Amino acid sequence: LLIIKNLNKSFNSLKVLDNINLEIKKGEKISLLGPSGCGKTTFLRIIAELESYDGNIQKNYQKIAYIFQEPRLIPWKTVFKNLEFVENHPEKINQILSELKLLQFKDFHPNKLSGGMQQRINLARALIVEPELLLLDEPFSSLDIHIKWKLIKDINKQISKKNITSILVTHDIKEAISLSDRILVLSNRPAKIIKEYSTSQINEEQLSNEIIKLWEE
Ligand code: ATP
Repeated sequence: LLIIKNLNKSFNSLKVLDNINLEIKKGEKISLLGPSGCGKTTFLRIIAELESYDGNIQKNYQKIAYIFQEPRLIPWKTVFKNLEFVENHPEKINQILSELKLLQFKDFHPNKLSGGMQQRINLARALIVEPELLLLDEPFSSLDIHIKWKLIKDINKQISKKNITSILVTHDIKEAISLSDRILVLSNRPAKIIKEYSTSQINEEQLSNEIIKLWEE
């Protein structure tokens, strides 16, 4: 789905990404774990074509969706209108709202809803375009713990059912394990991929011990 070769990125004299090479297959669920400020968001922004770069990226997909840390819904539009703004297809909107148990909120304005609920709507808005690739940039960091795990469960269900490839950026090992099959560990800035794990071969405790060692080096 995505082949990245010799990807480098600098902001003036600040080198942020250092020769990233990565191949992502269709349907794979990837997490990127990296220290603060190492360049994770920059990496996602490059994939989303929001940032220039050096290197080669081969994309074999048409549709992409991006979920940011903050929901960024349009405040003066209702939930339904927020989705309609992205795709004017009432049946599809009702279908996805129903799948995510959001139908009862369709005529609400975002500021009447909790942060967790807004992030659910954000997910619905991302899924309505039927993306082949879903980018998730720390989407849970401002959510209460039970809301967060409910949302993680729903995202997992949706991306599995629809065979969506996903890339999650997070600081949280537990989130990375729950939402991916491959975890890529990045170094401090400039970010390099220093290690890769398959979540079927490692548990949370082992992974946290490994990461402590890697980031201390
Ligand atoms: P965090 O974990 O804190 O979210 P991150 O790993 O996502 O951080 P980035 O947001 O990608 O890191 O930023 C990497 C570095 O690039 C930071 O030092 C940041 O200040 C710098 N940076 C990001 N965007 C720009 C920009 N448009 N111009 C200049 N510097 C930038």
